Amino acid sequence: MKLIFLGSGSAFTVNSSNYHSNMLLIDDTGAKLLIDCGSDARLSLAELGFTYKDIHDVYVSHLHADHVGGLEWLGFSSYFDPDCEKPNLYLHHSLETPLWENVLSGGMSSLQSHMADLSTYFKIHTIHDNEAFFWNKVRLQTVQTLHVMNGFKILPSFGLVFTVNDTKVFITTDTQFSPTQLGDFYEWADIIFQDCETANTMSGVHANYTELLTLTPEIRRKMWLYHYNPGPLPNAKKDGFCGFVVKGQVFGFG
Ligand SMILES: [Zn+2]
Ligand SMILES: [Zn+2]
Repeated sequence: MKLIFLGSGSAFTVNSSNYHSNMLLIDDTGAKLLIDCGSDARLSLAELGFTYKDIHDVYVSHLHADHVGGLEWLGFSSYFDPDCEKPNLYLHHSLETPLWENVLSGGMSSLQSHMADLSTYFKIHTIHDNEAFFWNKVRLQTVQTLHVMNGFKILPSFGLVFTVNDTKVFITTDTQFSPTQLGDFYEWADIIFQDCETANTMSGVHANYTELLTLTPEIRRKMWLYHYNPGPLPNAKKDGFCGFVVKGQVFGFG
């Protein structure tokens, strides 16, 4: 089982030197789970020699375009290819209606001679609170993170924890710095993939590098940083982290 980062950049990637932080979990049979399908996905997949035909399973964490902006491409490409089955779409149940009504329906609800909905394009698998979903024998549990608080309401993202070959993995997906909420998972994991903003101006909706520096050395030493901004990066290894994930980096679990 391995995890490949198609990209490790933020939503603000500027060119092909890095892509959005979408990943492929690939099992020993070659089956693939695409973790987030952002608007870069067709390019980042192509760079590794993959097309929509290789994507039968996709998980989405939340509704920002760097995580779901490629679903129209994936849905239409599969729909109009008679050799393709509908991809399985795994998502937290709270995302299903807004994904369609607020994100995809504008471009995808009208087909020639008939109307479509999300299930026209995808086999939908919703995940409920405190439930996990299984993908090819791997049990993936969602972890709600605090991503955006608009003043009245929290827009969460749904990170993932899973265990493969006794390696405990935590992918935060997009999250503010919230060590109190995520502390148990930081302790539990053997390897952490952590959202890390490196911009000087803090957006408030991502964990900033300067905040992550305040974590204990024990947590930092099992933490890989991703979803960072274009431009120069601090010396993460010197600061006790595993480092910044680079585009195309592969992690084997076993
Ligand atoms: Zn986001
Ligand atoms: Zn993002």
